[in-house]
Amino acid sequence: MDVNPTSYRLAASAPWLKLPREQLAAALRADRLPHAILIQGQPGAGKAALADYIARSVLCDRPARAPCGECASCHLHEAGTHPDLRRVGLVDDKKQVAVDDIRELIGTFSLRSFRGGRRVALIDPADAMSTSGANALLKTLEEPTPGALLVLTASRPDRLPATVASRCQRLMIRTPATADALAWLSGIDATVEWAGALALAAGAPVRALELARAGVLELEREMAELPARLSRPDVDLVGLAERCQERLPAERLRWIENWVTDRIRRGLKGPAADHSPGSPGLPSAVRARHIQGLYAILDELRAAQAALRGSANVTMLWERVLGLLARELSGLRAARPR
Ligand SMILES: [Zn+2]
Repeated sequence: MDVNPTSYRLAASAPWLKLPREQLAAALRADRLPHAILIQGQPGAGKAALADYIARSVLCDRPARAPCGECASCHLHEAGTHPDLRRVGLVDDKKQVAVDDIRELIGTFSLRSFRGGRRVALIDPADAMSTSGANALLKTLEEPTPGALLVLTASRPDRLPATVASRCQRLMIRTPATADALAWLSGIDATVEWAGALALAAGAPVRALELARAGVLELEREMAELPARLSRPDVDLVGLAERCQERLPAERLRWIENWVTDRIRRGLKGPAADHSPGSPGLPSAVRARHIQGLYAILDELRAAQAALRGSANVTMLWERVLGLLARELSGLRAARPR
């Protein structure tokens, strides 16, 4: 499974990126490139790969069939040493793109092209720029340098100042249907059972790929044991919360969200459709209370997800989510008719 999620290679083969590829090819043939492109799409939809594909195509010496893969420019791009391509992104585990990196990028952007052709700068993810970073960029957007293309990516474009977003041509990535995403993933590795990873990735195929690399398939097995662990009277909630926060917390929260949602759906359908343990023959008042409890857990999950996107420490929120879940499960066990 050796696929780089940020490489043009992925964008070149992804079926759901065909439309943006064609739009780019048409713009190149007509020599009508915008000076700034904003790629939008959910996390893991392939924005970084598409940005790399655009850079490779725009820099290619043969615009009629770019990216040709044979010209000197394509070779430089392949080697990662193209002098007219600049990339700025998140460094280490920082949550914000450094404003100094943006300033430096703008500085080189106003220079002449090394190879006498176009110049490209990628900012990925642009929605992680600070306000001062975005402001620094604004002047470049207002007074574009001829032959220079700025490519921004954002899964949360609402976080970009309107002054920045409105000066870019938008390129939307639509997440493919589940069946298409699964077919594409199986093409990459047919030995993997992809459905679980794709569900945790909220349907985004590239994210599913990243999750599989990060060992999420293992995590899935571990999470499947969570309800049983929480049902134990001696469960160590603090230890469990710390472990959940430590590794792939967003995916764990999504796993619980999917589990709770599924349980609510089955509960709402009534006893016949409900195969969850402890539920058959459950009095309707208990069932209603249980569903209410599950909805309360969903609220708590959303709060934890929001906290996770910020920089807040969410270990306490984890304890709350797991505590509520444990209470709900044990309440249900107590209400089960003997
Ligand atoms: Zn080329």
